[in-house]
Amino acid sequence: MSDQGKILETREPAGAHRGYRIPEPLVFELSQPGCIGFSLPEAPGDAAADLPRELLRDDDLAGLPEVSEPEVTRHFTRMSQRNYGIDTGLFPLGSCTMKYNPKVGEWAARLDGFAGIHPRWPESAVQGALQLLHTLERALAQVSGFHRVTLQPAAGAQGELVGLMMIRKALLKRGERRQRVIVPASAHGTNPASATLNGYETVELKTNESGILTPDVVLAAMDEHVAAIMITNPNTLGVFEPHIAAIAEVVHARGGFVYCDGANMNALLGHARPGDMGVDVMQFNLHKTFSTPHGGGGPGVGPVGVAEVLEPHLPRPVIVQDSKGYRFDWDRPESVGRLLGHNGQFGLIVRAYSYLRELGPEGLHRAAAHAVLNANYVRARLGGAYALASKAPSMHEVVFSDATLKGLGVKTLDVAKRLIDYGFHPPTVYFPLIVSGALMIEPTETETKRELDAFCAAMIAILDEAKKDPELLRTAPHHAPVRRLDETRAARTPVLTHFFERPGVREK
Ligand SMILES: *Cc1c(COP(=O)(O)O)cnc(C)c1O
Repeated sequence: MSDQGKILETREPAGAHRGYRIPEPLVFELSQPGCIGFSLPEAPGDAAADLPRELLRDDDLAGLPEVSEPEVTRHFTRMSQRNYGIDTGLFPLGSCTMKYNPKVGEWAARLDGFAGIHPRWPESAVQGALQLLHTLERALAQVSGFHRVTLQPAAGAQGELVGLMMIRKALLKRGERRQRVIVPASAHGTNPASATLNGYETVELKTNESGILTPDVVLAAMDEHVAAIMITNPNTLGVFEPHIAAIAEVVHARGGFVYCDGANMNALLGHARPGDMGVDVMQFNLHKTFSTPHGGGGPGVGPVGVAEVLEPHLPRPVIVQDSKGYRFDWDRPESVGRLLGHNGQFGLIVRAYSYLRELGPEGLHRAAAHAVLNANYVRARLGGAYALASKAPSMHEVVFSDATLKGLGVKTLDVAKRLIDYGFHPPTVYFPLIVSGALMIEPTETETKRELDAFCAAMIAILDEAKKDPELLRTAPHHAPVRRLDETRAARTPVLTHFFERPGVREK
């Protein structure tokens, strides 16, 4: 059991409000008329008289809560302590790669010369920033075996979108209008979504019993109507696709393109390069592989690497270096166009650059090896208790099915919720969809054996509890500020009444 788990287990009976677990009201409920958290000097004369009428409020506080400075500080500090993040503990979400982000990256991103620049400054004033963009681009191309890279896309999904846009352009240049994209059943949902947004129809391919795609299945689906295959490697079962080069040959022979979803590059860094496997285009997820903080849906960066044939279609502008230094090149007549208002999420790009420079080729090689070792350690520790989803060895993440749980009357979700009581963030659940009740664990390279042992011990203890007292799991978590939320309803119909019910607020 983890230390956090022990503390929670011994300190508090379920349902009680004691210790540090103070019920936290909304800041509106803390409001008391007359409380004030700031002091301003009196405005000279009648300041309001000089303001345009439409800017004047008819009540002084416009429905805002009235609280003192200590109250508001404590309120938000307590709220922040209810959060769980990568700086709090293990975050084993598979497919998302929530790795610890070295603080040196935070330092670098906050340097005045980076944090203080404006995207509309002239190129001559931001040569250092352009050099950083150019260098990172080249480094990513080198790591992945691609001809060039664009840093523009704001996330993996947007990288997929632009990758397929470039493929469509290249096909049109050949005078071809292909209609289909083929995708294995294990793919992330963004793959078919990106194909659909590009006007393609998606055809799903079956994988073998180990979750691996075989060339014969691809051959059977391949014809002159298929624009591309989208394949994730390692795939979403955390398993390396050993036939990728043969699959690429089959696809190329029929004039199609090979798109690789590179969200799982963690496992390959410094060991193998998708560009060498016949892949034509791939997105990186800097916020997964290259250590930039993310969560709650953002922010992200989804650079795209391309083989030489797709280079003319890269989003513009591209950064070029000539005798006068670095500059943006807009003269790209075959480009798919511009994707973002400016040049990507610059702060995250600085962090990714720091990570690469800090590790270097040796370090990247070791990071990938440790990511794979850690996942296989968890696989070995838990494989006897939980049912493995694939016989093939794991790369950077390991997936279990709910086969063991079914007979015990508990679900994957119950195990995930009970982990919260042990002080751990739950892993990814119910993805990939091809695995019944999937439980997907990605420890990442940054976790120590001690942390992994604590996590595995909690997982095994939970399985014992399921055998003795399944109700304990079904009603978990018992030691969290809230119990089971209706997550769909919370997202679809959030209750904001405490704000909107205040008279006069909604109208404004
Ligand atoms: C995360 C992920 C994506 C999408 O990337 P975003 O940056 O979240 O848009 C696509 N494919 C796989 C396999 C992923 O894990």
